[in-house]
Order: sequence, then C-alpha cells, then structure tokens
Amino acid sequence: MEACQAFGLGSNPGRRILFLKNINMHKNKKKLVEKILFLIELAEKEKDKENPYIKEYVSLALRIAKKINYRLPKEIHLKICKNCQTIRTTKNTRYRTETKNQNKYLKIRCLECDYLKKIKYLEKKK
Ligand SMILES: [Zn+2]
Repeated sequence: MEACQAFGLGSNPGRRILFLKNINMHKNKKKLVEKILFLIELAEKEKDKENPYIKEYVSLALRIAKKINYRLPKEIHLKICKNCQTIRTTKNTRYRTETKNQNKYLKIRCLECDYLKKIKYLEKKK
C-alpha cells in the first residue's frame, strides 16, 4: 500500500503525520516537564560522585525542553552551563560582580568551557 492510499487521495500524509505528532506532544507536555525536572534533579544529586553520565542527563533534558517549547525556570539556568551541559559546582565556576552605568551584573564563568553568562541583578534607580 502506498502512502497516498493509506491517507486517502489528495492528502499530504507527511503534513498529517506532523500534525498528529504535535497533538501528542501537547498532551504529554506535563509529563515531559516532570521528566526534565527529574533529570536535572538527578544530575544535581550525582554531581559529587563524578558520574560520567551527568552531561547526558542535562543534554537530554535540554533537548526535550527545546522540542516542547518549554522555557526552563531561572534557577535551573543558573544551575547548569548551557554550553557544555555540566552542573555548576564551586570547583568549575567563578562568580564575579560588575558595576556598569550603575547597573549591577553577575558574571558566571564556566571554567570547563570558558563560557561566560552575564545576569543583571540590580537596575539603576530612576
Ligand atoms: Zn561550560
């Protein structure tokens, strides 16, 4: 049986399959969000044990989040390095503060991949 016959003549099977996929994703979003949070929690627990799979947990969580368009909470963004997918510890991160135009910034440098994250935490008073 050809694809055209299976979905009826004149339909675009590829598009229909994509549409169905989106519905399933939407239905399972709650479960997938739980899965993301669980994976990050697990990676955080294992960080002191030097588990070699930590990067895989974090990258899997980030991939799921990207697929279902879920924005990770701020606390999680501070916990992980987006560039090399590691959990931040005091050993592999350096925190600095910087003041520029009376705004205060927190600079977080990952020592493993040299990636810099800059967060504004105090705005200039008007
Ligand atoms: Zn990094």
